[in-house]
Amino acid sequence: MIGILGGTFDPIHFGHLRPALEIFEQLALDELRFIPSANPPHRWQPEASAEHRLAMVKLAVNDVEGFVVDDREYYRDGASYTVDTLASIREEIGSTEPLCMLIGMDAFEHFTKWHDWQGILKLTHLVISSRPGTNHVKIEDWMTDRVTDAIAELHKQPIGKLFFADVSQLDLSATFLRKQLLEGKSSLFATPVEVSEYIERNKLYVPST
Ligand code: ATP
Repeated sequence: MIGILGGTFDPIHFGHLRPALEIFEQLALDELRFIPSANPPHRWQPEASAEHRLAMVKLAVNDVEGFVVDDREYYRDGASYTVDTLASIREEIGSTEPLCMLIGMDAFEHFTKWHDWQGILKLTHLVISSRPGTNHVKIEDWMTDRVTDAIAELHKQPIGKLFFADVSQLDLSATFLRKQLLEGKSSLFATPVEVSEYIERNKLYVPST
């Protein structure tokens, strides 16, 4: 079973990485693909370039067995719609392999506003992790038949289930980190040291002089 975690990763931090590892182990994933979004359609444009964000994700996950960086959105023109990314992954892995898209509860709250969200559920399961500030979700009608607490069910069918994952709660966000850096503070211990050093070396998230 393959997992994917899409994000702006502006920059990547331990709030992405630790829950991702816990889900990777909990669900016994064969592979977890990190997919930096080049042109996120649903939010303001990221501060660091797609190139820098991709480089930081690579530095963060390179030595972790089973973690892979997938740069397909980087090489696609136009807005990076999740449904298109999933369709292109499906073309590669076929229709029978179970696929789990990891998503934080804050993002899941707006899921039905995403472009072709019903199409997304025809391509993947969703694995939803709570996050400080958003640890409860109201179960709506469309969700009832899809929610499962059995990991075996995720392995049994390729798409369409919702699984709420219990993960360590790390109150970190890229917004917080960017603010710290803008104030001349360090990103150390909020992200891998290689990422911290990359940020410093490339003078990211500091006012341009
Ligand atoms: P920003 O602060 O710039 O909005 P972010 O820190 O929320 O960024 P994203 O790259 O937008 O990071 O998030 C990618 C995915 O990771 C989303 O599904 C988000 O919910 C999840 N995520 C980010 N931070 C955490 C965290 N601390 N705990 C759990 N999930 C997280």
